[in-house]
Amino acid sequence: MSKIQIVYHFGEESVCMTEEITSFEQLSLREETRKALKKMGFAAPTPVQAQTIPVMMDGYDVIAKAPTGTGKTCAFGIPLMETIRPDCADIQAVIVCPTRELCIQIADELRQLMAFRPDLRLACLYGGQPIAKQLTVLKKNPHIVVATPGRLLDHMGRGTAWLGNVYTAVLDEADEMLKMGFIKDVRRILNATPGDTQVVMFSATISREVMDVAWEYQHDAVEITVQAQGESRPLIAQFEMLSSGDRRTQDMLAIIDELDLHRVMVFCNRKNTVRRLSDRLHKQGRSVDCLHGDIPQSQRNRVMSGYREGAFEILVATDVAARGIDVDDVEAVFNYDIPDENEYYLHRIGRTGRARRKGMAFTFITPDDRFRMRDIKKYTHSEMEAVAFNDAGHLVTENGLPLTEALELQIEE
Ligand code: ADP
Ligand code: MG
Repeated sequence: MSKIQIVYHFGEESVCMTEEITSFEQLSLREETRKALKKMGFAAPTPVQAQTIPVMMDGYDVIAKAPTGTGKTCAFGIPLMETIRPDCADIQAVIVCPTRELCIQIADELRQLMAFRPDLRLACLYGGQPIAKQLTVLKKNPHIVVATPGRLLDHMGRGTAWLGNVYTAVLDEADEMLKMGFIKDVRRILNATPGDTQVVMFSATISREVMDVAWEYQHDAVEITVQAQGESRPLIAQFEMLSSGDRRTQDMLAIIDELDLHRVMVFCNRKNTVRRLSDRLHKQGRSVDCLHGDIPQSQRNRVMSGYREGAFEILVATDVAARGIDVDDVEAVFNYDIPDENEYYLHRIGRTGRARRKGMAFTFITPDDRFRMRDIKKYTHSEMEAVAFNDAGHLVTENGLPLTEALELQIEE
């Protein structure tokens, strides 16, 4: 069963709604689309489809991390069936992917979805096929174009493909495409679409390049993560600690020192908290740097490579700024603030315990956060143990076990 979480942003505030999507009926799709899905033999949406379709239909940008074989083509294909206006003769959706084989596969699947939509036209453009044939298809005013970057740019240059009225741009297998050196081409394609185009990215991994493109072209993108079947949960011991206000800083440093940690990430919900905390840690002589939305791209890259290379020990960040950081051996994650969204809790703690290394996560809470924490635990299927300092100033769990021992136990389970 998959849950869909829709997040609405108002400045720095966000409101979160959760709904279970288990059938295509819940998605209120057009009759023609439902008939096509039936004909294709699809009984229920896959998790990535359940999560992506409503969010895309609401017009949000999406960045979806999902392994192959999870049904990504229909995840973006179905919303296109719903949003494209057949009476408009311009290209309204462009799907860019790295290879001709993928182009053909995607076009095939979309044509099946369009089985009962004679009013929609699709063009498939890739290198190696005669231009003349593609010109004939383009003259028929396709609504949807599936293309490799090079051939699409070729047509844009000739004036045979115009993206000035594109509503949705999809980058499929974005990590592969950008790794293959298409980043400039992708930028030129996205630059040719209107500034408010919905940008949807699918990727098996969130690489640095993927993150850069997301940063540049997406606005408040909804992040979707789908785990591969059988992918094991990372080894993360999770703890909560009663602490609030400025006391959190000292408690955090005490934990860092007691456990002798040298590579930690600290998450705060607001840019201002990130700034204040990192200033305070800096003044206390700690090796620290920070990331938040107001930090320019060039500096962001410097901070990230510095962290990756171990140039400093504590990285303080907001959720959005930390998106996609690919550092494998973060020893511990601190939730200085409880995340606003349940999904973020998973994203945050997922920075540690990677590559089969053991990791740990600490969340600072107040007694008022009981219900919020219960919600997070339920949503994420997580267990958390309470820790506190004993009279001798050592970290112990509720039953008086030293933290170091509790760590071993939690991870072995
Ligand atoms: P991905 O792009 O994630 O690798 P595809 O979109 O190519 O995955 O889909 C993988 C396979 O699953 C395809 O054969 C597709 O037809 C099938 N498929 C997609 N959605 C569903 C569904 N809801 N139910 C059953 N099969 C599906
Ligand atoms: Mg695919």
